[in-house]
Amino acid sequence: MRVLIVEDEIRLAATLQDLLELNGYTADVCHDGEAGLDNAMTAIYDVVILDVMLPKLDGFTVLRRLRASGSATPVLMLTARSEVADRVEGLDCGADYYLTKPFEPKELLACIRALTRRQPELRNTDLLEYGDLKLEKSSFALSCGERSVRLSRKEFDMMELLMLNREIVLTKENLLLKIWGYESDAEDNNVEVYISFLRKKLDHLHSRVRIKTIRMVGYCLETGAA
Ligand code: CA
Repeated sequence: MRVLIVEDEIRLAATLQDLLELNGYTADVCHDGEAGLDNAMTAIYDVVILDVMLPKLDGFTVLRRLRASGSATPVLMLTARSEVADRVEGLDCGADYYLTKPFEPKELLACIRALTRRQPELRNTDLLEYGDLKLEKSSFALSCGERSVRLSRKEFDMMELLMLNREIVLTKENLLLKIWGYESDAEDNNVEVYISFLRKKLDHLHSRVRIKTIRMVGYCLETGAA
C-alpha cells in the first residue's frame, strides 16, 4: 500500500511518514499543493492524506481538481481547522474522511485501514482471476487450467496490477512507479522487459489472456476469443 502525504509542516509530514512506514505502508511526502496534485494524479497511491492550508494550492482546490480529473483515490483531509463549514466544504469537494489536528496516531491508522478496505475487494483475497487466469498471492503461482508457473516478485507485482486494473490502460510510468518505487532509477525499458517475460509465460500457459500494448500509452489485459 502506497500513501501520499501532502503536508507543508515538515516535522508533521516526517512524523506521519515514519508512522506509516512503521506500520507497513510506503509513504511519499509533498510539501505544497501543486506538487501534491501532480503526484496524486499519477494514480499510484492507495490513499492521499491532504492538509487544507498549503502553499501554492490549498487542499480544497487540490481535491476539487483531483476529482475533476476522474481520480477516485481515497482522500483523508487533515487539518487544524475544525469549523463545521470547513468539514462540509472538504466533504463536498470529494474528501472521504476528515481528521482534525491534533489527532491520535491510532485514529489516523484506523482511518487509513477503513479507506483502503473500500478499494476493490479483490485486493484482500489470495486469489485474483481474470479470463482463464488465476494468480495466487501466497505462492506467486499464475495458472491457466492444469498448467501453472511461478512468477518472480516483479513479475508477480506487474501481473497483479494488470489483473486488478483489467481493461484499464496502465502507463509505463504508473507501472514503473508502483513496482520500482519513486526513488528507483529503473527505466521504461525495465517495464518492457518484464512485460515480455509475462507474455512468454502466458504463451507457455496457453492462456487466451493477452497483454495488449497501447502505443505511446501503456498496457492492459484483454481476453482473446476462444
Ligand atoms: Ca498546513
